[in-house]
Amino acid sequence: MRTAEIRKRWLDYFAAQDHTVVPSASLISPDPSTLFTIAGMVPFIPYMTGEQTAPWQRATSVQKCVRTLDIEDVGKTTRHGTFFQMNGNFSFGDYFKEGAITYAWDLITRSQDEGGYGIPEDKIWVTVFHEDDEARRLWKKIAGLPDERIQGLGMGPNYWSTGARGPAGPCSEIFYDRGPAYGPDGGPAIDLAGDRFLEIWNLVFMQYERGDGGTKESFPILGELTKKNIDTGMGLERVAFVLQGVDNMYEIDEVFPVIAAAQELSGKRYGADTDDDVRMRVVADHVRSALMIISDGVRPSNEGRGYVLRRLLRRSVRAMRLLGVEDPSLPQLFPVSRDAMQASYPEVGADFERISQIAYAEEEAFRRTLTSGTTILDTAVAAAKTTAGAGGTPVLPGDQAFALHDTYGFPIDLTLEMAAEQGVQVDEKAFRALMQEQRTRARADALAKRTGGVDTAAYEALQSELARPVEFLGYTDATASV
Ligand code: ATP
Ligand code: MG
Ligand code: MG
Ligand code: MG
Repeated sequence: MRTAEIRKRWLDYFAAQDHTVVPSASLISPDPSTLFTIAGMVPFIPYMTGEQTAPWQRATSVQKCVRTLDIEDVGKTTRHGTFFQMNGNFSFGDYFKEGAITYAWDLITRSQDEGGYGIPEDKIWVTVFHEDDEARRLWKKIAGLPDERIQGLGMGPNYWSTGARGPAGPCSEIFYDRGPAYGPDGGPAIDLAGDRFLEIWNLVFMQYERGDGGTKESFPILGELTKKNIDTGMGLERVAFVLQGVDNMYEIDEVFPVIAAAQELSGKRYGADTDDDVRMRVVADHVRSALMIISDGVRPSNEGRGYVLRRLLRRSVRAMRLLGVEDPSLPQLFPVSRDAMQASYPEVGADFERISQIAYAEEEAFRRTLTSGTTILDTAVAAAKTTAGAGGTPVLPGDQAFALHDTYGFPIDLTLEMAAEQGVQVDEKAFRALMQEQRTRARADALAKRTGGVDTAAYEALQSELARPVEFLGYTDATASV
């Protein structure tokens, strides 16, 4: 079943259960606490917190999402994309646990002839919060699941809250058993990180009001919410790879064509070498994410969303080079991704000229950076190896990483990646300190310019502000501006 069809069935099913179909919000998050929309419920947060009254009691959507936190997993696990689509059904003070579990079970197991996904019942395992006896009882009643296939877990995986005062509550997650070829049996505790049990759907029961303070594992509960909400999220690509009978989410109809194109361009065969396979999956994922992110109005830059986009494009270009393709590759890959995505997102086709020009210009700029910086980096790497000697751990000094960044426009994550490929670490701490010094200097200069001289009071205030520990987020977080 094609991904566009799985998506359509989702919306049709919940529309038939009186849910209003709400179009996907932009990838540019409507909630200021994250750069990108990371889940289907994000556009509905004001209704969940009670800050605004929802215009409907029931809603459903297929939300475009980007999770930069998952970037290092892409291509290595079977199930993490930087871009993915989250199918959601939401109840604002209307149906609760029984309704949510009933709909989920029905849609998953209903035959394909009758509009469902037709997943065999004996493939489904679920988790519940271990104190949520009601959810456990409902799964037994509605789905008839044996005890072994309803597993109780703690706060970490099975409790949701925003981390501050507001709605909170237990979750119940639905897993698909891919069979013994992918790992050990599920009883008495399924391996959540392994490949055998694939998390496809998370049901969140917003039941309580939590207070401020506490930790993720323990916090004050102020009482039951008078209006309880349901928020669910099903990974569209995950269901697609189950229903399409392929091995992972990069092999579904919306993603694989780019892998096929990368094979052709590189002359390498997908499936022949583990490292090359990861590279091809990274390319296919990142090209699609970049396409969707540019479509929503982001341009490459050195900070925030633009930096994430830049990183995705550059990582994809680098992966193609590692596959042996020296010529520009995005002009070969972007049209393929467009063709795979436009059934669900016609705007990507309509706006393709603009989208692709932004991507191609970034590839050109990056090729120039690579040409000028790679020789310098290779020399520094070789020197670090010589300094370390046989048996030592080679470390590239922070000032060299800084020079690469400052003079050659080599972002630190690229230096880290390229050095690591040659078995060399980078003194990130020293690099960070130099970056910080440079920022302090730049701000002091700017102040001096504005005031015509150095205003020492303002400068000192700035100094103490800058003296706060600055967390380095360059590798994992979207907000880094290195
Ligand atoms: P995982 O444990 O596999 O990382 P998660 O628990 O972080 O998933 P949720 O936050 O519960 O995911 O999101 C709801 C659903 O969205 C998941 O059950 C999954 O089907 C899907 N999903 C989450 N992250 C991704 C991703 N990076 N790529 C594709 N689908 C995803
Ligand atoms: Mg996750
Ligand atoms: Mg999970
Ligand atoms: Mg989950």
